[in-house]
Amino acid sequence: MNNLGYYNGKIGLINEISVPITDRAFYFGDGVYDAVMCRNNIPYLLAEHIERLYHNCQLLGIVPPICKQELSLTIKELVKKVEGEEKFVYFHISRGSGIRCHSFNKCEGNLCIMIKPQSLDDVYEKMNTVLREDIRYELCNIKTLNLLPSVLTAQMASEKNCEEAILHRNGIVTECSHSNVSILKSRVLITAPCDKYILPGVTRAHLIMVARENGIQVEERKYTTSELLDADEIIITSSSKMARGVKTIDGKPVGGKDEGTLAVLRDTLYINYLNETNK
Ligand code: PLP
Repeated sequence: MNNLGYYNGKIGLINEISVPITDRAFYFGDGVYDAVMCRNNIPYLLAEHIERLYHNCQLLGIVPPICKQELSLTIKELVKKVEGEEKFVYFHISRGSGIRCHSFNKCEGNLCIMIKPQSLDDVYEKMNTVLREDIRYELCNIKTLNLLPSVLTAQMASEKNCEEAILHRNGIVTECSHSNVSILKSRVLITAPCDKYILPGVTRAHLIMVARENGIQVEERKYTTSELLDADEIIITSSSKMARGVKTIDGKPVGGKDEGTLAVLRDTLYINYLNETNK
């Protein structure tokens, strides 16, 4: 198959799978999602992403229709049906179905999966970005389907021919529209703490791990837009980007002052991905 859509056990091409309009994902964005890269039919770091998805379900009182092990097996079987060496696997669990009503009864959620061919970003290509106000609400630690502010800020970046929007709240850097951001200063990796203003990214966690393994000090603390603009390097992380440097913010050159440390972090994350997804 060229791509695959799955909804509560139904399988077909993405464009052919239909979802009932009573699904709360449709009119409330009432659900949580996650996504992984997949290479050689090995979904990368799947267990960590499934763990986060079920933790998010628990935080919101959403009842998953299947257990973690079943979801893992389902995804591993489904990826084999789609052609291509590298794929992107998206999966979400909505709160379930019912006539539109804000409050809810606890019922089983609906599982939706989409798989499409997609290559990992070119990790060696530094990114052009914009800096924008973080207009999201206060549940950014939960990967919910409510992504309107992220959609709008991603569009602002795209209209400036940039790949990402770096976000700040009153001058404090949080994350990006669909990735985390960290900085290097004097060989210290500085990254926003895991609070309600950022998603605890799986790639961010691996970046921190790799930094410590390589003797690079890590500070999980709030940092300002001035520190961002003055950083030796800026690193954007996500499952589909891995770790990429930043070359401009709003058209002005940034970073480029510690290519060596950036290379250690970026290359180790990339090599780990290649090694773990070898046939
Ligand atoms: N932050 C936001 C807002 C995201 O949407 C994402 C990924 O989708 C990330 C961070 C990166 O998370 P991960 O590294 O787990 O892909």
